[in-house]
Amino acid sequence: MISLLKHVPSGKKIIVAGCLPLINFDRLVKETRFEGAVGPAPGDKIVHIVNRVIAGERVIALENAQHSMPSLLLPRIRVNPIIGIIPVSYGCLGSCAYCCVVFARGKLRSYPIHEIIERARLDLADGVKEFWITSQDTACYGKDIGSSLPVLLESICAINGAFNVRVGMMNPHMTLGILKELLKAFENEKIFKFLHLPVQSGDDDVLKLMRRPYTIAEFKSIVEAFKAKFPRLTLATDIICGFPGETEEAFENTLKLIEEVKPDIVNVSKFFARPRTPAAKMSYKIPASEIKRRSEVLTELTLKISLERNMQWIGWEGEILVDEIGMVRDSWVGRNFAYKPIVVKSESNLLGKRLRVKVEKAFPTYLEGKIILG
Ligand code: SF4
Repeated sequence: MISLLKHVPSGKKIIVAGCLPLINFDRLVKETRFEGAVGPAPGDKIVHIVNRVIAGERVIALENAQHSMPSLLLPRIRVNPIIGIIPVSYGCLGSCAYCCVVFARGKLRSYPIHEIIERARLDLADGVKEFWITSQDTACYGKDIGSSLPVLLESICAINGAFNVRVGMMNPHMTLGILKELLKAFENEKIFKFLHLPVQSGDDDVLKLMRRPYTIAEFKSIVEAFKAKFPRLTLATDIICGFPGETEEAFENTLKLIEEVKPDIVNVSKFFARPRTPAAKMSYKIPASEIKRRSEVLTELTLKISLERNMQWIGWEGEILVDEIGMVRDSWVGRNFAYKPIVVKSESNLLGKRLRVKVEKAFPTYLEGKIILG
């Protein structure tokens, strides 16, 4: 991000918005120039700030950023007209040792259900067909206001209309506490059978060092419960390679977990000490070359498993919602009930259409199909 800012032509004014100014303001001052800085989700405050910067003022508006919550009902310009992204809460209840997001986002603040429903209704009236329910930890939605994620999902699904819902990342610890109700809420056909459950490491000792309050056995129990009910579930998880104290044996445990659980998607990241985090002060740092090696070994394994998982969809026939323009000309990406991306070809504009397709080919990150009925 900072390197991008360095390339902004000198005649242009810069307002840095989001987590960065709260997490690393000193580095921002040292390495770049900017006329304004504002925290995440400034809401309609941004209009006032932009006007002041245009008028020649230097505006640093970072106070209260960890407590603010802009109205969900502000007008929106969507990058993708089919997808409505609804942040249902800000902040989280965690204190993970590597995380700096928590400095910028603060403690959990959930939007009331009626405001989320109102947002969803406005989006549907604008032509949205797919909602992404997002948060730093979606599973802790409502804990500060006496509500819960399953109750929210049931309320959203009760809105009339043909739409789908993708539930965002949920931490295993918080998911365990709502598991029974969540599985029930996921029965609704509108909810994609897609579970993003970041495990971060396959080793209990490393999880303790990371201050992630769950065990590998608990993570596996959530996955098993979901797979027992939704056998064709898409499972996504995240792994950090080379956290301080991750021994070779601990890393092997991560490989074993991935082999056993076989996630469809694994977001692999290399550990990097964020300023002011407890992890930045930890001893037993892993050399950068070893972190790189581990991430390469893990990535190779995850791609092999992703391909194996996707091969199982060859021959599948069913409905997709086209929610994305493809990378190559005349290609479109649709999602089936398990949120699997299926690429189809057509010269017509298919965005937002529901089609019947048959999967013919599989790749590690997507499937290819032909349209049977559209
Ligand atoms: S990693 Fe997620 S749950 Fe943990 S402190 Fe950061 S935002 Fe919160």
